[in-house]
Amino acid sequence: MSGAPLPRSLERLIEALSRLPGVGPRTAERLAFHILRTPLADAQALAGAISTMREQTRPCEICGHVADEVRCRICTDDSRDASLLCVVEEPLDLIAIERTGAFRGRYHVLNGALSPMSGVGPGELRMRELFERVDAAAAAGSPIREVIIATNPSPEGDVTLLYLQERLGTKVASITSMARGLPFGADLQYADAVTILRSLEERRGVES
Ligand SMILES: [Zn+2]
Repeated sequence: MSGAPLPRSLERLIEALSRLPGVGPRTAERLAFHILRTPLADAQALAGAISTMREQTRPCEICGHVADEVRCRICTDDSRDASLLCVVEEPLDLIAIERTGAFRGRYHVLNGALSPMSGVGPGELRMRELFERVDAAAAAGSPIREVIIATNPSPEGDVTLLYLQERLGTKVASITSMARGLPFGADLQYADAVTILRSLEERRGVES
């Protein structure tokens, strides 16, 4: 980084902040100087929150969402319909759907989408966990009646959608997709709640 010589510790913080998504070098400088001027206790609380979050969170053993415990707060909420499962690529997509307040089922986070071009196959995603979950629910006598595939409207999202349709079509009574309600290329996590709500309400069966 060029420019005015700064204390090494400050440079290190600027460098670390500039690696965050959407934060360029100038914004990183402004953030670092903002932190420099805040009371020491606030700066320590910020550093502590980052470190505690990293140490304490883990993927939920059932759905893969971020959790503080072995299971997340959605999977342990008995008021949520376990027979309705929404499959998303990332936790941020789940959060976008939760923002609508309209979905009362459970989730499954894949940790990405299939991308043969980039070498992302089923083994790189949480696919096996999904199939095992569907099988286990059926074996326990409380089968999943609908799987809503909420992958992004992108080539990777579509490949993932078709793969899931193929693999789950014989196991689940209804497989629906909400991707068609979103403009192609528009990531779910950036869509507004009204748009997500509409595509959720207008979700359609996936043709095989
Ligand atoms: Zn969970």
